[in-house]
Amino acid sequence: MTDEARQTGTRREAGVFDVAIAGGGPVGLMLAIELGRRGVTAVVLNDRPTTTPYAAANATQARTMEHYRRLGFADRVRALGLPPDYPTDITYFTRYTGHELARFSLPSARDARVLARSLSGSWSAAELPHRCSQMFIEPVLYEEAAGLASVELAFGWRLAEWSESRDAVQALAVAADGRERRLRARWLVGCDGARSLVRRRLGIELGGETGVQRDFMGGRMHAMYFRAPRLYEQIGRPPAWMYWAFNAERRGFMAAIDGRDEFVFHMQMRGGEDAESIDEAQARRMFEQALGAPCALQVRSRSSWIAGHSLVARRLRAGRVFLAGDAAHLFTPTGGLGYNTGVEDAVNLGWKLAAVARGEADESLLDSYEAERRPLALRNTGYARGFADSIGLYRPPAGLEDETAEGAAIRAEAGAYLERHARMEFDIPGITFGGRYDGSPLIADDAETPPPDAANVYRPTSVPGGRAPHLWLDDGASLYDRFGFGFTLLDTGERAAQDAASLAAAIARAGLPLTLLSLPVAQARELYPRRFTLVRPDQIVAWRGDSLADEPAQLLRRAMHWRR
Ligand SMILES: Cc1cc2nc3c(=O)[nH]c(=O)nc-3n(C[C@H](O)[C@H](O)[C@H](O)COP(=O)(O)OP(=O)(O)OC[C@H]3O[C@@H](n4cnc5c(N)ncnc54)[C@H](O)[C@@H]3O)c2cc1C
Repeated sequence: MTDEARQTGTRREAGVFDVAIAGGGPVGLMLAIELGRRGVTAVVLNDRPTTTPYAAANATQARTMEHYRRLGFADRVRALGLPPDYPTDITYFTRYTGHELARFSLPSARDARVLARSLSGSWSAAELPHRCSQMFIEPVLYEEAAGLASVELAFGWRLAEWSESRDAVQALAVAADGRERRLRARWLVGCDGARSLVRRRLGIELGGETGVQRDFMGGRMHAMYFRAPRLYEQIGRPPAWMYWAFNAERRGFMAAIDGRDEFVFHMQMRGGEDAESIDEAQARRMFEQALGAPCALQVRSRSSWIAGHSLVARRLRAGRVFLAGDAAHLFTPTGGLGYNTGVEDAVNLGWKLAAVARGEADESLLDSYEAERRPLALRNTGYARGFADSIGLYRPPAGLEDETAEGAAIRAEAGAYLERHARMEFDIPGITFGGRYDGSPLIADDAETPPPDAANVYRPTSVPGGRAPHLWLDDGASLYDRFGFGFTLLDTGERAAQDAASLAAAIARAGLPLTLLSLPVAQARELYPRRFTLVRPDQIVAWRGDSLADEPAQLLRRAMHWRR
């Protein structure tokens, strides 16, 4: 974190901010960090006084980890959750003490760090995924945001109402004890989750599919977070991160939380069962159906949720108000995409709001948020729905648990299906890295067509609109570690080093908010075949070309609606 961001912030008057953020979940906190790191004033209102007590998301995708790295705290996040040497395998069982049907092996956090440096192609990345509960990650985001001078975290304050005038939003926040606080901000961002007050008050509808019923991952679910000191011993298999149960009685999945004795089990309600009203004894029985044995456990918390949503808000902006995260799109958690898509909303909106707040960009830049992020929300909810169908509609043949040769054959067949499914759902570099902003007004046209979108394959390309291709440098650094925090002009030409001084001087003379990165190496030229590539603050390629005949200032006018 820069000292500037920690200490200065933009000028701050009591109750007056550049941005008011409703909701201090991962998305609101991430947005606050993006703004605060650029010295923009922001307040985060969160009705609950603390970060989430629920396990919720368990998968932080590689792209989110790359953003955490850009902001300097990926290592803190990678240290959270399971022990460093704990494998993050995905396993499928009839019952957890019964037959193991399939296992998809994935690395521990410690191995992921080492492995990342040796992977190329689809998985060439500065960071690999990290599998850890959201309830551990949110406090890190909170602390990172709290350390920024221009950010105020107002937890325990609910956004109750607001009104909008020509140049500002006036908001009323209310504390649990009834105290009131009035705030003024240039923009309001609704990061207030699935039941978003902001979205509802704007009258913005969600479009898409909801209420889908499946055998599994469709309909009412109940989550039980518990401590069971002997569970690993009872299961008697190598540890895994995710445990899925398939049997005629109870389908569910369980995630390991700390690798010692904490777990969260998500169970599918069946006809007549009501997730809201089941008591603890019923929840325990349901877990024991999946386990196939009695279990001594202490329940820490329980909650209900609905699987089967693929919903996206019809608009992500109305006047001075924006929507991001679950307020803007609702997923079924297959694929682990909800919070990750929300983090990318925050990254996208963060640099844009900051550029306008700081007077560097024209206000019209903000129109590109919906143009870029809504198609991605539609894409990602579509992928998640496909995974939910693949696992939720799959019914193993009768006889799965029979201790006969026929039963064994059925289990082998089910195992083969589940192994294929696991690769499809949990090996998703294409979804993670392949999201693109083609057609955005900020992205320059290019003669080359980008590779087709595919969930499980990512083909690095510097065609403008996608993530800048990644590579490891000879000194062991990631290319991304060399990018500036704002825009970067990458020069991979053979003469790049010689030309650097005069190019840097020209950039400085024109007062461009641009970092020049000279990288005259063959490996970089393979990924970046044009001599110059303009990379945005969110590491998306905005433009590429062989000469700077197009004045750099003109490039920035297009890529960020630069005001000069
Ligand atoms: C079982 C389960 C598993 C999941 N697994 C994954 C996964 O592996 N990967 C993944 O990417 N996603 C996953 N998700 C989804 C993920 O949990 C959500 O997408 C994520 O929490 C959304 O973040 P958010 O910040 O948009 O909203 P939230 O986390 O819902 O945060 C919104 C915040 O706003 C507050 N708030 C609401 N109204 C107001 C108001 N009026 N004023 C002030 N504050 C308000 C709320 O209290 C809350 O703190 C999972 C979800 C579930 C249920």
